[in-house]
Amino acid sequence: MVLKIEQFTCRSDNFGVLIHDTEANVTASIDAPEFQPIVDKLAELGWDLTEILVTHHHEDHVEANLTLKTAYGCSITAPAGEASKIPGVDRTVKQGDTFLFGSFEVQVIETPGHTLGHIAYYLPAARVAFVADTLFALGCGRVFEGTPEMMWESLSKLAALPDDTTIYCGHEYTQANAKFALTIEPENAELVARAAEIDRLRGEGRPTLPTTIAIEKATNPFLRVDAPAIRKRLGLEDASQAAVFAEIRKRKDNF
Ligand code: ZN
Ligand code: FE
Repeated sequence: MVLKIEQFTCRSDNFGVLIHDTEANVTASIDAPEFQPIVDKLAELGWDLTEILVTHHHEDHVEANLTLKTAYGCSITAPAGEASKIPGVDRTVKQGDTFLFGSFEVQVIETPGHTLGHIAYYLPAARVAFVADTLFALGCGRVFEGTPEMMWESLSKLAALPDDTTIYCGHEYTQANAKFALTIEPENAELVARAAEIDRLRGEGRPTLPTTIAIEKATNPFLRVDAPAIRKRLGLEDASQAAVFAEIRKRKDNF
């Protein structure tokens, strides 16, 4: 069984992502950031949209729910915790739920913090997770609705996925995230090398996503709250992981 994945730009810095199971001939859009680019990509690939898997209620993730539903008759799956804020929902899912996408099992991971109902979709057989605005390449989502402790718990769940899990995120924020990450852990050689690679990719107009859990654990300051150099720099040698996370998040908010 083969899962095909297509990532493309929507709006200014959102990603559209389509997943397709060739044998079952089903196609899902991860969120629905913008109608036309999704329609165009489906046409280019010859795929028929059968479902939308929504991660959270923000407008830049659900704007095209109803227009796509009208155009394709697709079904919409959304987090139970905030389904009332999401247009066109047919099925709600919560932590630990599983369902089939074609022949692939999809596991629902609740990742509250950015919004209270935010979820990620994890397909273990394909070693891929769609995490939207919880974890970014070299960053994480702003904590709009939850608490830093909550966001830290959510990131910890994602960090516990297998190292070789491919991670698709909601936005191309990596270059700005890299600039900030370098202020938190400038001595991290892998981070320095990655930042240079990101500059090269963006200079060529190419995306820096997807990433992997292994790459993020090695370079993303928000997943590196145990790194002695980071704790020392922040003056938080003996603080809890959540407290270190909260301090890094605060600095990023003011960066
Ligand atoms: Zn969002
Ligand atoms: Fe977003």
